[in-house]
Amino acid sequence: MTRICVPIMASTAGQMAREIDDAQAAGAQMIELRLDYLQDRNEEGIRALMEYAACFPGQIIVTCRLASEGGQYNGSEDARMELMTAAIGPATDFIDVEYEAWRHSPLVSEQIGLQCAGGCESRNPQLRLILSKHDFQHTPADLDAIFDKLLHSHADVVKLACKAESITDSLRMLEALRNARRSPLNKGGLRGVIALSMGETGILTRVLARKFGALLTFAALDTGKESAPGQPTIKDLRELYRWDALNPATRVYGVVGCPVAHSMSPAIHNAAFAAVGHDGVYLPMRVEPSFEAFEAFLDGCLARPWLDLRGLSVTIPHKENLLRYAEARGGEIDPLARRIGVANTLHIEPGQREDGSDAKLYAFNTDYRGALDALCQGMGCQPTDLAGMPVAVLGAGGVSRAIVAGLTDCGCRVTIYNRTAEKAVALAAEFGAKALPWEQRVRPGTQVIINCTSIGMWPHTADTPLGETGTSPAATTGGAGILPASGQLTVFDTVYNPIESRLLREAREQGHQTIDGVAMFVGQAAAQFERWTGQTAPTDLMRDIVVRRLTATR
Ligand code: NAP
Repeated sequence: MTRICVPIMASTAGQMAREIDDAQAAGAQMIELRLDYLQDRNEEGIRALMEYAACFPGQIIVTCRLASEGGQYNGSEDARMELMTAAIGPATDFIDVEYEAWRHSPLVSEQIGLQCAGGCESRNPQLRLILSKHDFQHTPADLDAIFDKLLHSHADVVKLACKAESITDSLRMLEALRNARRSPLNKGGLRGVIALSMGETGILTRVLARKFGALLTFAALDTGKESAPGQPTIKDLRELYRWDALNPATRVYGVVGCPVAHSMSPAIHNAAFAAVGHDGVYLPMRVEPSFEAFEAFLDGCLARPWLDLRGLSVTIPHKENLLRYAEARGGEIDPLARRIGVANTLHIEPGQREDGSDAKLYAFNTDYRGALDALCQGMGCQPTDLAGMPVAVLGAGGVSRAIVAGLTDCGCRVTIYNRTAEKAVALAAEFGAKALPWEQRVRPGTQVIINCTSIGMWPHTADTPLGETGTSPAATTGGAGILPASGQLTVFDTVYNPIESRLLREAREQGHQTIDGVAMFVGQAAAQFERWTGQTAPTDLMRDIVVRRLTATR
Protein backbone atom coordinates (compact mmCIF):
# COMPACT_ATOMS: atom_id res chain seq x y z
CA MET A 1 0.00 0.00 0.00
CA THR A 2 1.27 3.44 -0.89
CA ARG A 3 1.99 5.47 2.24
CA ILE A 4 1.76 9.15 2.99
CA CYS A 5 5.18 10.37 4.08
CA VAL A 6 5.52 13.71 5.88
CA PRO A 7 8.93 15.38 5.67
CA ILE A 8 10.13 16.72 9.02
CA MET A 9 12.39 19.69 8.38
CA ALA A 10 12.68 21.61 11.65
CA SER A 11 15.88 23.33 12.77
CA THR A 12 15.92 21.85 16.30
CA ALA A 13 15.47 18.33 17.57
CA GLY A 14 12.73 19.56 19.92
CA GLN A 15 10.73 21.04 17.04
CA MET A 16 11.28 17.86 15.03
CA ALA A 17 9.85 15.84 17.91
CA ARG A 18 6.76 18.10 17.98
CA GLU A 19 6.32 17.75 14.23
CA ILE A 20 6.59 13.96 14.49
CA ASP A 21 3.62 14.11 16.88
CA ASP A 22 1.75 16.42 14.49
CA ALA A 23 2.44 14.10 11.56
CA GLN A 24 1.09 11.15 13.52
CA ALA A 25 -2.02 13.10 14.50
CA ALA A 26 -2.57 14.13 10.88
CA GLY A 27 -2.51 10.49 9.74
CA ALA A 28 1.01 10.15 8.30
CA GLN A 29 2.10 6.58 7.77
CA MET A 30 5.74 7.48 7.23
CA ILE A 31 8.03 10.34 8.15
CA GLU A 32 11.21 11.51 6.50
CA LEU A 33 13.64 13.04 8.99
CA ARG A 34 15.61 15.70 7.15
CA LEU A 35 18.75 15.88 9.28
CA ASP A 36 20.18 18.53 6.95
CA TYR A 37 17.69 21.06 8.39
CA LEU A 38 19.01 20.65 11.94
CA GLN A 39 21.14 23.56 13.13
CA ASP A 40 22.65 21.68 16.06
CA ARG A 41 23.85 18.41 14.66
CA ASN A 42 25.51 16.67 17.61
CA GLU A 43 25.38 12.91 17.61
CA GLU A 44 23.92 12.63 21.10
CA GLY A 45 21.03 14.90 20.16
CA ILE A 46 20.43 12.82 17.04
CA ARG A 47 20.32 9.60 19.05
CA ALA A 48 17.85 11.15 21.50
CA LEU A 49 15.72 12.31 18.57
CA MET A 50 15.77 8.81 17.08
CA GLU A 51 14.71 7.34 20.40
CA TYR A 52 11.79 9.75 20.44
CA ALA A 53 10.99 8.99 16.79
CA ALA A 54 10.75 5.29 17.68
CA CYS A 55 7.31 6.12 19.18
CA PHE A 56 6.04 6.99 15.69
CA PRO A 57 3.87 4.06 14.65
CA GLY A 58 4.73 4.22 10.94
CA GLN A 59 7.97 3.88 9.04
CA ILE A 60 10.93 6.25 9.28
CA ILE A 61 13.24 7.48 6.54
CA VAL A 62 16.47 9.24 7.46
CA THR A 63 18.27 11.51 5.04
CA CYS A 64 20.73 14.38 5.09
CA ARG A 65 20.79 16.13 1.76
CA LEU A 66 23.66 18.26 0.53
CA ALA A 67 22.97 21.80 -0.67
CA SER A 68 23.96 20.58 -4.16
CA GLU A 69 21.24 17.91 -3.85
CA GLY A 70 18.54 20.43 -2.99
CA GLY A 71 19.14 20.13 0.77
CA GLN A 72 20.57 22.33 3.51
CA TYR A 73 23.74 20.47 4.48
CA ASN A 74 27.05 22.13 3.68
CA GLY A 75 29.50 20.47 6.10
CA SER A 76 32.12 17.83 5.33
CA GLU A 77 31.22 14.47 3.83
CA ASP A 78 32.81 12.69 6.80
CA ALA A 79 30.62 14.58 9.26
CA ARG A 80 27.54 13.92 7.11
CA MET A 81 28.20 10.19 7.16
CA GLU A 82 28.73 10.25 10.92
CA LEU A 83 25.45 12.06 11.35
CA MET A 84 23.55 9.58 9.20
CA THR A 85 25.21 6.65 10.93
CA ALA A 86 24.22 8.07 14.31
CA ALA A 87 20.61 8.21 13.09
CA ILE A 88 20.53 4.54 12.16
CA GLY A 89 18.93 2.75 15.05
CA PRO A 90 16.22 0.19 15.68
CA ALA A 91 13.51 2.62 14.51
CA THR A 92 15.11 3.55 11.20
CA ASP A 93 13.43 1.76 8.32
CA PHE A 94 15.06 3.50 5.37
CA ILE A 95 18.15 5.52 4.67
CA ASP A 96 18.03 7.74 1.60
CA VAL A 97 21.09 8.89 -0.35
CA GLU A 98 21.45 10.49 -3.74
CA TYR A 99 22.36 7.99 -6.46
CA GLU A 100 25.21 10.13 -7.80
CA ALA A 101 26.81 10.41 -4.34
CA TRP A 102 26.46 6.63 -3.92
CA ARG A 103 28.10 6.04 -7.27
CA HIS A 104 30.91 8.56 -7.07
CA SER A 105 31.78 8.75 -3.36
CA PRO A 106 33.35 5.57 -1.96
CA LEU A 107 32.86 7.09 1.49
CA VAL A 108 29.10 7.24 0.98
CA SER A 109 28.72 3.81 -0.57
CA GLU A 110 31.04 2.16 1.97
CA GLN A 111 29.59 3.80 5.08
CA ILE A 112 25.95 3.53 4.11
CA GLY A 113 26.47 0.15 2.45
CA LEU A 114 28.04 -1.13 5.67
CA GLN A 115 25.06 -0.01 7.71
CA CYS A 116 22.61 -1.59 5.33
CA ALA A 117 24.61 -4.81 5.39
CA GLY A 118 24.40 -5.00 9.18
CA GLY A 119 27.35 -2.89 10.36
CA CYS A 120 25.54 -1.58 13.38
CA GLU A 121 24.34 -4.03 16.00
CA SER A 122 21.37 -2.04 17.15
CA ARG A 123 20.10 -1.30 13.67
CA ASN A 124 16.74 -2.36 12.36
CA PRO A 125 17.33 -5.68 10.55
CA GLN A 126 14.84 -4.43 7.97
CA LEU A 127 16.91 -1.28 7.22
CA ARG A 128 16.56 -0.54 3.53
CA LEU A 129 18.45 1.68 1.14
CA ILE A 130 16.70 4.30 -0.99
CA LEU A 131 18.73 5.62 -3.91
CA SER A 132 17.31 8.89 -5.22
CA LYS A 133 17.74 11.01 -8.25
CA HIS A 134 16.50 14.60 -8.33
CA ASP A 135 16.32 17.08 -11.15
CA PHE A 136 15.16 20.51 -10.02
CA GLN A 137 15.34 22.03 -13.51
CA HIS A 138 13.38 19.77 -15.82
CA THR A 139 12.16 16.25 -16.58
CA PRO A 140 14.74 14.37 -18.68
CA ALA A 141 13.62 12.72 -21.91
CA ASP A 142 14.23 9.07 -21.06
CA LEU A 143 12.87 8.37 -17.60
CA ASP A 144 12.79 4.61 -18.17
CA ALA A 145 16.57 4.62 -18.78
CA ILE A 146 17.11 6.47 -15.50
CA PHE A 147 14.99 3.98 -13.63
CA ASP A 148 16.89 1.11 -15.31
CA LYS A 149 20.12 2.58 -13.96
CA LEU A 150 18.67 2.93 -10.48
CA LEU A 151 17.29 -0.59 -10.62
CA HIS A 152 20.72 -1.96 -11.59
CA SER A 153 22.03 -0.68 -8.24
CA HIS A 154 21.86 -2.21 -4.76
CA ALA A 155 18.91 -0.08 -3.80
CA ASP A 156 15.88 -1.61 -2.11
CA VAL A 157 13.89 1.44 -3.18
CA VAL A 158 14.47 3.69 -6.20
CA LYS A 159 13.29 7.27 -6.27
CA LEU A 160 13.07 9.81 -9.07
CA ALA A 161 11.83 13.37 -8.55
CA CYS A 162 11.96 15.88 -11.40
CA LYS A 163 10.58 19.33 -12.04
CA ALA A 164 7.63 19.14 -14.44
CA GLU A 165 7.80 21.93 -17.00
CA SER A 166 4.34 21.01 -18.24
CA ILE A 167 1.63 18.55 -17.34
CA THR A 168 2.82 16.13 -20.02
CA ASP A 169 6.01 15.70 -17.95
CA SER A 170 3.80 14.46 -15.12
CA LEU A 171 2.11 11.99 -17.47
CA ARG A 172 5.55 10.70 -18.47
CA MET A 173 6.50 10.37 -14.80
CA LEU A 174 3.43 8.28 -14.08
CA GLU A 175 4.29 6.06 -17.02
CA ALA A 176 7.85 5.70 -15.75
CA LEU A 177 6.52 4.69 -12.32
CA ARG A 178 4.32 2.08 -13.91
CA ASN A 179 7.15 0.75 -16.08
CA ALA A 180 9.68 0.65 -13.24
CA ARG A 181 7.30 -1.32 -11.04
CA ARG A 182 6.81 -3.87 -13.81
CA SER A 183 10.42 -3.88 -15.03
CA PRO A 184 12.22 -7.26 -15.15
CA LEU A 185 15.04 -5.50 -13.25
CA ASN A 186 12.66 -4.97 -10.36
CA LYS A 187 12.91 -8.50 -8.96
CA GLY A 188 9.25 -9.29 -9.42
CA GLY A 189 8.17 -5.90 -8.14
CA LEU A 190 9.80 -6.43 -4.73
CA ARG A 191 11.67 -3.13 -4.80
CA GLY A 192 9.79 -0.01 -3.96
CA VAL A 193 9.47 2.75 -6.54
CA ILE A 194 8.93 6.45 -5.90
CA ALA A 195 8.30 8.72 -8.91
CA LEU A 196 7.22 12.30 -8.41
CA SER A 197 6.99 15.47 -10.44
CA MET A 198 7.73 18.78 -8.76
CA GLY A 199 5.77 21.93 -9.49
CA GLU A 200 2.08 22.75 -9.83
CA THR A 201 1.34 20.17 -12.52
CA GLY A 202 3.04 17.46 -10.47
CA ILE A 203 -0.10 17.06 -8.36
CA LEU A 204 -1.12 14.26 -10.75
CA THR A 205 1.90 12.18 -9.76
CA ARG A 206 1.53 12.97 -6.06
CA VAL A 207 -2.11 11.91 -5.80
CA LEU A 208 -2.09 9.09 -8.36
CA ALA A 209 1.01 7.58 -6.70
CA ARG A 210 -1.48 5.43 -4.81
CA LYS A 211 -3.40 4.32 -7.89
CA PHE A 212 -0.13 3.21 -9.52
CA GLY A 213 1.40 1.55 -6.47
CA ALA A 214 4.34 3.82 -5.58
CA LEU A 215 6.00 3.14 -2.24
CA LEU A 216 5.00 6.58 -0.96
CA THR A 217 3.93 10.08 -1.72
CA PHE A 218 5.13 13.10 0.23
CA ALA A 219 2.71 15.48 1.90
CA ALA A 220 3.47 18.60 3.91
CA LEU A 221 2.29 19.06 7.49
CA ASP A 222 0.98 22.47 6.54
CA THR A 223 1.09 25.08 3.80
CA GLY A 224 4.60 26.56 3.79
CA LYS A 225 6.18 23.33 5.09
CA GLU A 226 6.60 21.63 1.73
CA SER A 227 9.95 19.95 1.08
CA ALA A 228 9.45 20.34 -2.68
CA PRO A 229 7.35 22.60 -4.90
CA GLY A 230 3.87 21.31 -5.60
CA GLN A 231 3.67 19.06 -2.54
CA PRO A 232 0.10 18.98 -1.21
CA THR A 233 -0.64 19.22 2.49
CA ILE A 234 -1.58 15.98 4.21
CA LYS A 235 -5.00 17.50 4.93
CA ASP A 236 -5.65 18.23 1.25
CA LEU A 237 -4.33 14.85 0.19
CA ARG A 238 -6.66 13.03 2.57
CA GLU A 239 -9.71 15.28 2.62
CA LEU A 240 -9.72 17.00 -0.76
CA TYR A 241 -8.19 14.26 -2.93
CA ARG A 242 -9.78 11.24 -1.22
CA TRP A 243 -6.43 9.53 -0.59
CA ASP A 244 -7.85 6.76 1.58
CA ALA A 245 -10.34 5.73 -1.12
CA LEU A 246 -7.86 5.61 -4.04
CA ASN A 247 -7.08 2.22 -5.55
CA PRO A 248 -5.82 0.80 -8.87
CA ALA A 249 -9.31 0.98 -10.43
CA THR A 250 -10.01 4.60 -9.46
CA ARG A 251 -11.16 6.68 -12.42
CA VAL A 252 -9.51 10.02 -13.05
CA TYR A 253 -11.22 13.35 -13.74
CA GLY A 254 -10.02 16.92 -13.62
CA VAL A 255 -10.35 20.56 -14.45
CA VAL A 256 -8.17 21.79 -17.31
CA GLY A 257 -7.42 25.48 -17.47
CA CYS A 258 -4.81 28.13 -16.86
CA PRO A 259 -4.83 29.10 -14.06
CA VAL A 260 -6.58 26.33 -12.11
CA ALA A 261 -4.90 26.47 -8.71
CA HIS A 262 -7.85 28.22 -7.05
CA SER A 263 -10.62 26.32 -8.82
CA MET A 264 -13.40 25.12 -6.52
CA SER A 265 -14.18 22.22 -8.86
CA PRO A 266 -11.86 19.64 -7.19
CA ALA A 267 -13.54 20.30 -3.84
CA ILE A 268 -17.08 19.89 -5.14
CA HIS A 269 -16.52 16.95 -7.48
CA ASN A 270 -14.40 14.93 -5.04
CA ALA A 271 -16.93 15.46 -2.26
CA ALA A 272 -19.74 14.49 -4.63
CA PHE A 273 -17.87 11.31 -5.72
CA ALA A 274 -17.46 10.40 -2.06
CA ALA A 275 -21.12 11.13 -1.30
CA VAL A 276 -22.46 8.76 -3.96
CA GLY A 277 -19.67 6.18 -3.64
CA HIS A 278 -18.24 6.78 -7.12
CA ASP A 279 -14.70 5.43 -7.41
CA GLY A 280 -13.14 8.56 -8.89
CA VAL A 281 -10.70 11.33 -8.11
CA TYR A 282 -10.78 14.84 -9.54
CA LEU A 283 -7.58 16.88 -9.93
CA PRO A 284 -6.53 20.36 -11.05
CA MET A 285 -4.71 20.13 -14.40
CA ARG A 286 -2.91 23.26 -15.48
CA VAL A 287 -2.36 23.30 -19.24
CA GLU A 288 -0.56 26.24 -20.86
CA PRO A 289 -2.85 28.52 -22.91
CA SER A 290 -2.32 27.29 -26.47
CA PHE A 291 -4.12 24.75 -28.61
CA GLU A 292 -0.83 22.90 -29.05
CA ALA A 293 -0.40 22.48 -25.28
CA PHE A 294 -4.03 21.34 -24.93
CA GLU A 295 -3.63 18.88 -27.79
CA ALA A 296 -0.35 17.50 -26.41
CA PHE A 297 -1.96 16.98 -23.01
CA LEU A 298 -5.06 15.21 -24.30
CA ASP A 299 -3.08 13.16 -26.81
CA GLY A 300 -0.82 12.17 -23.92
CA CYS A 301 -3.78 11.13 -21.77
CA LEU A 302 -5.57 9.18 -24.51
CA ALA A 303 -2.39 7.35 -25.52
CA ARG A 304 -2.20 6.09 -21.93
CA PRO A 305 -5.58 4.38 -21.44
CA TRP A 306 -4.31 2.83 -18.19
CA LEU A 307 -4.56 6.33 -16.74
CA ASP A 308 -8.35 5.78 -16.64
CA LEU A 309 -9.08 9.40 -17.51
CA ARG A 310 -12.86 9.54 -17.90
CA GLY A 311 -13.83 13.19 -17.79
CA LEU A 312 -12.64 16.76 -17.82
CA SER A 313 -14.13 20.10 -16.94
CA VAL A 314 -12.55 22.59 -19.30
CA THR A 315 -12.26 26.23 -18.43
CA ILE A 316 -10.57 29.42 -19.63
CA PRO A 317 -8.65 29.52 -21.94
CA HIS A 318 -9.35 26.05 -23.38
CA LYS A 319 -13.12 25.97 -23.99
CA GLU A 320 -12.73 26.60 -27.73
CA ASN A 321 -9.76 24.25 -27.85
CA LEU A 322 -11.90 21.42 -26.52
CA LEU A 323 -14.37 21.81 -29.37
CA ARG A 324 -11.56 21.94 -31.92
CA TYR A 325 -9.84 18.91 -30.41
CA ALA A 326 -13.01 16.83 -30.20
CA GLU A 327 -13.80 17.70 -33.81
CA ALA A 328 -10.32 16.71 -34.98
CA ARG A 329 -10.52 13.38 -33.10
CA GLY A 330 -13.96 12.55 -34.51
CA GLY A 331 -15.66 13.05 -31.16
CA GLU A 332 -19.36 13.57 -30.69
CA ILE A 333 -20.24 17.21 -30.08
CA ASP A 334 -23.43 18.38 -28.46
CA PRO A 335 -25.25 20.53 -31.08
CA LEU A 336 -25.76 23.46 -28.71
CA ALA A 337 -22.05 23.42 -27.74
CA ARG A 338 -21.29 23.59 -31.46
CA ARG A 339 -23.67 26.51 -31.86
CA ILE A 340 -22.23 28.31 -28.85
CA GLY A 341 -18.76 27.67 -30.23
CA VAL A 342 -17.30 26.44 -26.94
CA ALA A 343 -17.50 23.32 -24.81
CA ASN A 344 -16.69 22.98 -21.13
CA THR A 345 -17.00 19.25 -20.57
CA LEU A 346 -15.36 16.15 -21.98
CA HIS A 347 -16.56 12.64 -21.33
CA ILE A 348 -14.27 9.81 -22.38
CA GLU A 349 -15.47 6.27 -22.96
CA PRO A 350 -12.51 3.90 -23.10
CA GLY A 351 -12.02 1.54 -26.02
CA GLN A 352 -10.24 -1.81 -26.23
CA ARG A 353 -6.97 -0.86 -27.89
CA GLU A 354 -3.81 -0.51 -25.83
CA ASP A 355 -2.85 2.69 -27.61
CA GLY A 356 -6.16 4.30 -26.67
CA SER A 357 -6.94 5.17 -30.28
CA ASP A 358 -10.50 3.81 -30.08
CA ALA A 359 -11.59 5.86 -27.05
CA LYS A 360 -14.84 7.74 -27.69
CA LEU A 361 -14.98 11.45 -26.93
CA TYR A 362 -18.09 13.44 -26.12
CA ALA A 363 -17.82 17.21 -25.83
CA PHE A 364 -20.64 19.30 -24.50
CA ASN A 365 -21.46 22.53 -22.71
CA THR A 366 -23.01 22.48 -19.27
CA ASP A 367 -22.85 26.26 -18.66
CA TYR A 368 -26.19 26.83 -20.40
CA ARG A 369 -27.72 23.81 -18.70
CA GLY A 370 -26.45 25.10 -15.34
CA ALA A 371 -27.92 28.53 -16.02
CA LEU A 372 -31.27 27.13 -17.22
CA ASP A 373 -31.50 24.77 -14.25
CA ALA A 374 -30.75 27.64 -11.87
CA LEU A 375 -33.36 29.81 -13.57
CA CYS A 376 -36.07 27.16 -13.67
CA GLN A 377 -35.44 26.03 -10.10
CA GLY A 378 -35.45 29.64 -8.90
CA MET A 379 -38.69 30.37 -10.74
CA GLY A 380 -40.25 27.01 -9.97
CA CYS A 381 -40.91 26.22 -13.63
CA GLN A 382 -39.84 23.92 -16.47
CA PRO A 383 -37.68 25.03 -19.44
CA THR A 384 -40.78 24.73 -21.64
CA ASP A 385 -42.50 27.38 -19.47
CA LEU A 386 -39.82 29.86 -20.53
CA ALA A 387 -41.14 30.02 -24.11
CA GLY A 388 -42.15 33.56 -25.03
CA MET A 389 -40.79 35.04 -21.79
CA PRO A 390 -39.14 38.48 -22.17
CA VAL A 391 -35.60 38.24 -20.76
CA ALA A 392 -32.95 40.97 -20.53
CA VAL A 393 -29.36 39.78 -20.70
CA LEU A 394 -26.67 42.21 -19.56
CA GLY A 395 -23.31 41.53 -21.20
CA ALA A 396 -22.17 39.83 -24.37
CA GLY A 397 -19.13 37.84 -23.25
CA GLY A 398 -18.57 34.10 -22.90
CA VAL A 399 -21.16 33.41 -20.19
CA SER A 400 -23.72 35.57 -21.95
CA ARG A 401 -23.17 33.59 -25.12
CA ALA A 402 -23.97 30.26 -23.44
CA ILE A 403 -26.99 31.70 -21.65
CA VAL A 404 -28.40 33.45 -24.73
CA ALA A 405 -28.05 30.19 -26.67
CA GLY A 406 -29.89 28.27 -23.94
CA LEU A 407 -32.63 30.87 -23.56
CA THR A 408 -33.32 31.27 -27.27
CA ASP A 409 -33.33 27.49 -27.58
CA CYS A 410 -36.19 27.50 -25.03
CA GLY A 411 -38.04 30.15 -27.04
CA CYS A 412 -37.43 33.13 -24.71
CA ARG A 413 -37.63 36.63 -26.16
CA VAL A 414 -34.11 37.80 -25.36
CA THR A 415 -32.82 41.38 -25.42
CA ILE A 416 -29.08 41.86 -25.01
CA TYR A 417 -27.57 45.04 -23.55
CA ASN A 418 -23.82 45.43 -23.64
CA ARG A 419 -21.35 48.22 -23.01
CA THR A 420 -19.72 47.52 -26.36
CA ALA A 421 -22.79 47.74 -28.57
CA GLU A 422 -21.34 45.87 -31.58
CA LYS A 423 -20.82 42.73 -29.51
CA ALA A 424 -24.46 42.76 -28.41
CA VAL A 425 -25.60 43.23 -32.01
CA ALA A 426 -23.42 40.38 -33.26
CA LEU A 427 -24.53 38.00 -30.50
CA ALA A 428 -28.18 38.87 -31.01
CA ALA A 429 -27.90 38.26 -34.76
CA GLU A 430 -26.31 34.88 -34.20
CA PHE A 431 -29.02 33.56 -31.89
CA GLY A 432 -32.12 35.36 -33.10
CA ALA A 433 -32.24 37.78 -30.16
CA LYS A 434 -32.58 41.56 -30.01
CA ALA A 435 -29.89 44.10 -29.08
CA LEU A 436 -30.47 47.48 -27.46
CA PRO A 437 -27.97 50.11 -26.28
CA TRP A 438 -26.50 49.62 -22.81
CA GLU A 439 -27.91 53.00 -21.78
CA GLN A 440 -31.46 51.74 -22.34
CA ARG A 441 -31.27 48.85 -19.91
CA VAL A 442 -33.79 47.61 -18.85
CA ARG A 443 -37.02 48.12 -20.83
CA PRO A 444 -40.48 47.90 -19.18
CA GLY A 445 -42.21 44.56 -19.70
CA THR A 446 -39.09 42.56 -18.92
CA GLN A 447 -39.78 39.55 -16.74
CA VAL A 448 -36.27 38.26 -16.10
CA ILE A 449 -32.97 40.14 -15.85
CA ILE A 450 -29.73 38.18 -16.06
CA ASN A 451 -26.42 39.85 -15.28
CA CYS A 452 -23.69 38.25 -17.36
CA THR A 453 -21.20 41.09 -16.86
CA SER A 454 -18.48 41.04 -14.22
CA ILE A 455 -19.90 44.17 -12.56
CA GLY A 456 -20.24 43.64 -8.80
CA MET A 457 -17.73 40.83 -8.65
CA TRP A 458 -15.26 40.76 -5.77
CA PRO A 459 -13.41 43.03 -4.94
CA HIS A 460 -15.69 45.60 -6.62
CA THR A 461 -18.65 44.60 -4.52
CA ALA A 462 -20.08 48.14 -4.29
CA ASP A 463 -20.80 48.10 -8.04
CA THR A 464 -24.02 47.04 -9.71
CA PRO A 465 -25.13 47.04 -13.32
CA LEU A 466 -28.57 48.29 -12.27
CA GLY A 467 -28.13 50.74 -9.42
CA GLU A 468 -29.11 54.33 -8.85
CA THR A 469 -25.70 55.09 -7.41
CA GLY A 470 -23.56 52.48 -9.07
CA THR A 471 -19.89 53.24 -8.57
CA SER A 472 -18.96 51.44 -11.76
CA PRO A 473 -18.35 53.97 -14.51
CA ALA A 474 -20.57 51.84 -16.69
CA ALA A 475 -23.47 51.75 -14.23
CA THR A 476 -24.97 55.00 -15.36
CA THR A 477 -27.69 56.95 -13.61
CA GLY A 478 -30.39 59.33 -14.83
CA GLY A 479 -33.08 56.84 -15.71
CA ALA A 480 -30.99 54.19 -17.37
CA GLY A 481 -29.64 51.19 -15.53
CA ILE A 482 -32.03 51.39 -12.64
CA LEU A 483 -33.67 48.38 -11.12
CA PRO A 484 -37.44 48.77 -11.49
CA ALA A 485 -38.90 49.55 -8.08
CA SER A 486 -42.13 47.69 -8.44
CA GLY A 487 -43.40 44.55 -10.12
CA GLN A 488 -42.32 40.98 -9.75
CA LEU A 489 -39.08 40.51 -11.63
CA THR A 490 -36.72 37.60 -11.43
CA VAL A 491 -33.13 38.87 -11.11
CA PHE A 492 -30.39 36.35 -11.77
CA ASP A 493 -26.76 37.37 -11.21
CA THR A 494 -24.18 35.00 -12.68
CA VAL A 495 -21.55 36.61 -10.45
CA TYR A 496 -21.02 34.16 -7.57
CA ASN A 497 -18.39 35.95 -5.56
CA PRO A 498 -19.94 37.51 -3.48
CA ILE A 499 -22.84 35.09 -3.23
CA GLU A 500 -25.29 37.95 -2.74
CA SER A 501 -24.05 40.77 -4.97
CA ARG A 502 -25.26 44.31 -4.55
CA LEU A 503 -27.59 43.74 -7.51
CA LEU A 504 -29.21 40.79 -5.76
CA ARG A 505 -29.37 42.50 -2.39
CA GLU A 506 -31.20 45.50 -3.83
CA ALA A 507 -33.49 43.29 -5.90
CA ARG A 508 -34.37 41.28 -2.80
CA GLU A 509 -34.97 44.45 -0.80
CA GLN A 510 -37.38 45.62 -3.49
CA GLY A 511 -39.32 42.40 -3.35
CA HIS A 512 -38.03 40.80 -6.56
CA GLN A 513 -37.21 37.14 -6.83
CA THR A 514 -33.43 36.52 -6.87
CA ILE A 515 -31.17 33.73 -8.11
CA ASP A 516 -27.45 33.74 -7.34
CA GLY A 517 -24.47 32.67 -9.43
CA VAL A 518 -23.68 29.75 -7.12
CA ALA A 519 -26.85 28.06 -8.37
CA MET A 520 -25.48 28.23 -11.93
CA PHE A 521 -22.00 27.15 -10.87
CA VAL A 522 -23.40 24.13 -9.06
CA GLY A 523 -25.81 23.44 -11.92
CA GLN A 524 -23.03 23.21 -14.52
CA ALA A 525 -20.92 21.01 -12.22
CA ALA A 526 -23.92 18.80 -11.43
CA ALA A 527 -24.57 18.27 -15.15
CA GLN A 528 -20.94 17.19 -15.63
CA PHE A 529 -21.11 14.89 -12.63
CA GLU A 530 -24.29 13.20 -13.84
CA ARG A 531 -22.86 12.66 -17.29
CA TRP A 532 -19.68 11.08 -15.93
CA THR A 533 -21.16 8.96 -13.14
CA GLY A 534 -24.71 8.25 -14.31
CA GLN A 535 -25.87 9.19 -10.80
CA THR A 536 -27.92 12.08 -9.47
CA ALA A 537 -25.64 14.85 -8.28
CA PRO A 538 -25.78 15.73 -4.58
CA THR A 539 -26.44 19.40 -5.38
CA ASP A 540 -27.12 20.51 -1.78
CA LEU A 541 -23.71 19.19 -0.75
CA MET A 542 -22.07 20.81 -3.79
CA ARG A 543 -23.66 24.15 -3.01
CA ASP A 544 -22.69 23.86 0.62
CA ILE A 545 -19.05 23.34 -0.33
CA VAL A 546 -19.00 26.33 -2.70
CA VAL A 547 -20.66 28.56 -0.09
CA ARG A 548 -18.24 27.41 2.61
CA ARG A 549 -15.24 28.02 0.37
CA LEU A 550 -16.45 31.46 -0.68
CA THR A 551 -17.18 32.40 2.91
CA ALA A 552 -13.84 31.07 4.13
CA THR A 553 -11.87 33.15 1.63
CA ARG A 554 -13.50 36.34 2.88
P1 NAP B 1 -16.21 38.05 -20.47
O1 NAP B 1 -16.31 37.18 -21.64
O2 NAP B 1 -14.95 38.77 -20.20
O3 NAP B 1 -17.39 39.15 -20.57
C1 NAP B 1 -17.49 40.19 -19.65
C2 NAP B 1 -18.74 41.01 -19.95
O4 NAP B 1 -18.86 41.98 -18.92
C3 NAP B 1 -18.66 41.76 -21.27
O5 NAP B 1 -19.95 41.80 -21.83
C4 NAP B 1 -18.22 43.14 -20.82
O6 NAP B 1 -18.62 44.18 -21.70
C5 NAP B 1 -18.95 43.28 -19.53
N1 NAP B 1 -18.33 44.25 -18.63
C6 NAP B 1 -17.19 44.11 -17.93
N2 NAP B 1 -16.95 45.21 -17.19
C7 NAP B 1 -17.97 46.07 -17.45
C8 NAP B 1 -18.30 47.38 -17.00
N3 NAP B 1 -17.53 48.01 -16.12
N4 NAP B 1 -19.42 47.94 -17.46
C9 NAP B 1 -20.22 47.31 -18.35
N5 NAP B 1 -19.97 46.07 -18.82
C10 NAP B 1 -18.86 45.46 -18.37
O7 NAP B 1 -16.52 37.27 -19.12
P2 NAP B 1 -17.47 35.97 -18.95
O8 NAP B 1 -16.64 34.76 -19.04
O9 NAP B 1 -18.64 36.11 -19.82
O10 NAP B 1 -17.88 36.12 -17.42
C11 NAP B 1 -18.77 37.13 -17.00
C12 NAP B 1 -19.12 36.92 -15.54
O11 NAP B 1 -19.84 35.71 -15.37
C13 NAP B 1 -17.88 36.73 -14.65
O12 NAP B 1 -17.49 37.96 -14.15
C14 NAP B 1 -18.35 35.81 -13.54
O13 NAP B 1 -18.69 36.54 -12.39
C15 NAP B 1 -19.59 35.18 -14.12
N6 NAP B 1 -19.42 33.72 -14.24
C16 NAP B 1 -20.29 32.94 -13.57
C17 NAP B 1 -20.20 31.57 -13.66
C18 NAP B 1 -21.14 30.72 -12.88
O14 NAP B 1 -21.09 29.50 -13.02
N7 NAP B 1 -21.99 31.31 -12.08
C19 NAP B 1 -19.23 30.99 -14.48
C20 NAP B 1 -18.36 31.81 -15.17
C21 NAP B 1 -18.47 33.18 -15.04
P3 NAP B 1 -17.73 44.58 -22.97
O15 NAP B 1 -18.10 43.62 -24.04
O16 NAP B 1 -18.14 45.95 -23.25
O17 NAP B 1 -16.31 44.48 -22.53
